Amino acid sequence: MNVLLVYAHPEPTSLNGSIRDFTVQRLQAAGHTVQVSDLYAMSWKTTVDAEDAPERDPRQPFHASLDSKRAYAQGTQSADIAREQQKLLWADALILQFPLWWFTMPAILKGWVDRVYAYGFGYGVGEHSDSRWGERYGEGKMKGKRAMLMVTTGGWESHYAPRGINGSMDDLLFPIQHGILYYPGFEVVPPFVVYRTSRMDAARFAQTCDELGRRLDELWSTRPIAYRQQNAGDYEIPALTLKDDVAPGEEGFAAHLR
Ligand code: FAD
Repeated sequence: MNVLLVYAHPEPTSLNGSIRDFTVQRLQAAGHTVQVSDLYAMSWKTTVDAEDAPERDPRQPFHASLDSKRAYAQGTQSADIAREQQKLLWADALILQFPLWWFTMPAILKGWVDRVYAYGFGYGVGEHSDSRWGERYGEGKMKGKRAMLMVTTGGWESHYAPRGINGSMDDLLFPIQHGILYYPGFEVVPPFVVYRTSRMDAARFAQTCDELGRRLDELWSTRPIAYRQQNAGDYEIPALTLKDDVAPGEEGFAAHLR
């Protein structure tokens, strides 16, 4: 299988750097082919702007969605964006690896998503009409591929428990797992999270690698998170609210789980 690891940490000798190296070795040893997009090493451009569509008409106002749509359709996107899209199309599985910074991904990784998920590629895929709101949430260009997050935190596991002060990790990761990965069609397997990283030492690192190794071995057999598909009958069209008889009385992120 082909695995794309998108890695967002500025320091190769960090804990994240060690976890990345272990991941690549483990996957390769199992016979998989791995490409790493090391965003800091690539000096990834984070901001969406007119440079992303170099052949656009400079007399017209820049429009992030419409210029993205035109450049993607015409094959005139900035080369760094097109390269990352090719890697995604090549991959059978995507891993996003990052330290939790202010309860989400570092800005450089968000900027990868903002730019690589072009209109027509990451969103705006399929028929959009009153009876159908495109191919997304379970459908889309990434359908048939798998995705997993690998996240490290300073906070303790209990801080991210369902009643923990930070909010539950499932809730914090929902916009990434559901909004960024499930949206364009990935099947998302549960995240691998390393908590309280300041307490890492050689023994715990070995144990962490054992657990991560098992998760990587099972990447293709792990049951994905059971998000509800947009176009499978659970949602009213075109309001896209859950039907009254689906998860009655439930609201919030968890209601979108089957
Ligand atoms: P490092 O700092 O590189 O290492 C952590 C520990 O692991 C160190 O003690 C190091 O010696 C040890 N270590 C490294 N490699 C190995 C190895 N191979 N074997 C054994 N031990 C090793 N945390 C939260 O919980 N929530 C937040 O919202 C949050 N926001 C943040 C925002 C910012 C801007 C920053 C800078 C930090 C934030 N943090 C937050 C903390 C952050 O998530 C952690 O610092 C980060 O996850 C640790 O990962 P690292 O790779 O940087 O670890």
